[in-house]
Amino acid sequence: MDLQTRALHAGYEKDSNRTMAVPIYQTTAYDFGTTDFAASSFNLEQGTDHVYTRVGNPTNAILERRFAELEDGSGCLAVASGMAAIFYSILNITEAGDNIVVSNQLYGGTVTLFTQTLKKLGIEARFFDVHSLHEIEPLIDNKTKCIFFEAISNPSIDVPDFDEIIKISNKHNILTIVDNTVATPMLLQPLLLGADVVVHSASKYTTGQGTAIGGLIVERKNLSEKIKGNTRYPYFNEPEPSYNGLVFADSVVSGILFTFRARMVLLRDTGAVISPFNAWLLIQGLETLYLRIKQHSQNALEMAQWLESQSIVVKVNYPLLKGNKNYENALKYLTKGASGILSFEVKNFETAKKILDKVNIFSIVANIGDSKSIITHPASTTHQQLNDAELLACGVPAGLIRISCGLESAKDLIADMKQALEA
Ligand SMILES: *Cc1c(COP(=O)(O)O)cnc(C)c1O
Repeated sequence: MDLQTRALHAGYEKDSNRTMAVPIYQTTAYDFGTTDFAASSFNLEQGTDHVYTRVGNPTNAILERRFAELEDGSGCLAVASGMAAIFYSILNITEAGDNIVVSNQLYGGTVTLFTQTLKKLGIEARFFDVHSLHEIEPLIDNKTKCIFFEAISNPSIDVPDFDEIIKISNKHNILTIVDNTVATPMLLQPLLLGADVVVHSASKYTTGQGTAIGGLIVERKNLSEKIKGNTRYPYFNEPEPSYNGLVFADSVVSGILFTFRARMVLLRDTGAVISPFNAWLLIQGLETLYLRIKQHSQNALEMAQWLESQSIVVKVNYPLLKGNKNYENALKYLTKGASGILSFEVKNFETAKKILDKVNIFSIVANIGDSKSIITHPASTTHQQLNDAELLACGVPAGLIRISCGLESAKDLIADMKQALEA
């Protein structure tokens, strides 16, 4: 089935109430009926959707099945936020003394997770330049547990060479984990390119209207073949004390391994569960994601092309602009569009600030992926502690402006930007 059809129907079978809308099962727990059934539920024999909502819930399960189908994966775990999804995907394979090899162009929250919080847990993040992939192999040793990168990076809007990174990861039998938040499965399906695990902040394009925080982890079909017997991944290949010595790799539940362990160990023990109501909001978002992401991409492309023709604009960054350093990779991997974020540079800090204060349709917000357009000036907000030299070093000139193009008409957005540039 095509993606837009899966987004509307996958994972939901109507019960006797025959509701067209997916029901919200706003419940904490489930009646086992008999002690024998309760015992078998706790022994993982009855699936995970009807034990206790921290580890499974029927509404959450519909979101998970639907999203797994959209990414063409086997298993999916929904969690409370994108950060929880990233944290669990790493914690599912690492312990103190291990390292992860990660892209240098990442979401800010991911950078602090990797450089501060994981460091305190004894896990080292080793950075490579997404445009110099020869840097990856020298960083790999026998304690390396994954290669992590973003499909379209937020905020730098870089598009890495997937084939090259995945080739390296397979050569060393290491998992690749891809944050696919900005592209969404509607524009790009990393698992079909050979990535092993995909993580998402569903708080952006997936929810779409800026109404819910959520995160998703999806694993590739047949991922168990890469993990089983792989000495890098003892958690899956050695007996698990908290389940009577169960070896996860020997007890693969209908083809899922990675997300099963994340649920039954990490979610059980640390509890970043998504509320059924938020899962339901994400399901509503998925119904229109295919149409929305096309329009976000179209609006961003038109805005980027228009900005390029303006004399006050020094530079425009959007992967599908000719001459952009990501153009070749974008043509190869983003054939359906490059999503809604772009950035452009004006001559200095004051000019940028003035433009932000003059726009009317765009809101000044630290977010992306909302149906309403958003504008930010990193040098006066997220990056205000840095001086000019430091700003340049991290690719954020003082005159850089970022836009997340919403679903307003491109004509109105451009007219609003035009009056702000001319004011
Ligand atoms: C927003 C974002 C996150 C974090 O997601 P939350 O849902 O806010 O926790 C992670 N990665 C990327 C690329 C993001 O844009």
